[in-house]
Amino acid sequence: MRITGIGVEVVSEPKRHAVRDALQLLDRNGRTRLVIETDEGVTGVSDTYFGRLASSPAVLGQILTEQLGPAIVGEDPALIRQIRQKLRALTDYQGTAGLSTYGISAIDLALWDLLGKSLDAPVWKLLGAQRTAIPAYAMVGWLELDVAGLEQVSARAMEQGFRGVKMKVGGGPLTEDVTRIKAVRAVIGPDAPLMVDANQAFDFHEALRRGRVYEELDCRWFEEPLPADDTEGHIRLADKLDLPIATGENRYGQAAFRDLVAGGGVGVIQPDLRRAGGLTDCLEIGLMAAGFGIPYASHGGGAHIHVLAALPNTIYVESGLLPSDGRVELVDGCYPLPPGPGLSSWDG
Ligand SMILES: [Mg+2]
Repeated sequence: MRITGIGVEVVSEPKRHAVRDALQLLDRNGRTRLVIETDEGVTGVSDTYFGRLASSPAVLGQILTEQLGPAIVGEDPALIRQIRQKLRALTDYQGTAGLSTYGISAIDLALWDLLGKSLDAPVWKLLGAQRTAIPAYAMVGWLELDVAGLEQVSARAMEQGFRGVKMKVGGGPLTEDVTRIKAVRAVIGPDAPLMVDANQAFDFHEALRRGRVYEELDCRWFEEPLPADDTEGHIRLADKLDLPIATGENRYGQAAFRDLVAGGGVGVIQPDLRRAGGLTDCLEIGLMAAGFGIPYASHGGGAHIHVLAALPNTIYVESGLLPSDGRVELVDGCYPLPPGPGLSSWDG
């Protein structure tokens, strides 16, 4: 089988309900859809999501159409790692990190989808799954919500059967975080995991000061306490807190995870499919972390569920509230694996 061409479709529209974390307003529903075509009629599809910046989906579309797509025409789509190597070399001059990596990830995911469809099997089966369902928590505690809104959405998440809840912190003073965390804890009960996420908002001393308080409030982990690329800061912080540091969603490529993992700067590793380099890189980062005994919790869900099914060190999939159409239900706090061929997911 050979790749004969690609198709790209771009969507960029305002989000109906904008959400806020400590540093950014996420007000867009942007998407770049990639379709890889072959001479045998089998196709592979991936969707790359953008939460802000109206122009990003189109810029990625241009990188795929003019640069990365032509480079994979004629290749055997089963040689996923060989194609990755070719695309990394191609983008080295302009910088492989950033939107180049988004493009490489989009191709990687579409190739896995294509492989699964060509064999009529879900990708989690091709990867040799370790489990048939993934424990799930709900990221619902956005900063634009007042305390009443936070309580309401946390209750809804628990009603839907999620194991626990994640909430944003760092939007105001520490006293505000404490009030909000206590409110959510009162709703979800003493035993459900409650995670806090600062989205890189703090410097080292503020992260340490707040981290000690989050620890006292029995939070399950402290996510992105520092700027994502501050490896040395993460290592020092992890040394001073018992609370696990969770990070990884804003690191590009697996080399960016090596020193963080080896130095003990991360207690829960959280790669993002788009930024880490696709399914292949997330899988390899997860296995590297497994070698150090570090648990893996994905940034986001969707196609990531196939990686989570396969890794030995998976602890959670991240999700929003379940879709209201009832297409998926949690069983014992877990997402079941999607049965369809390729990279099928519950996203629709
Ligand atoms: Mg996060």
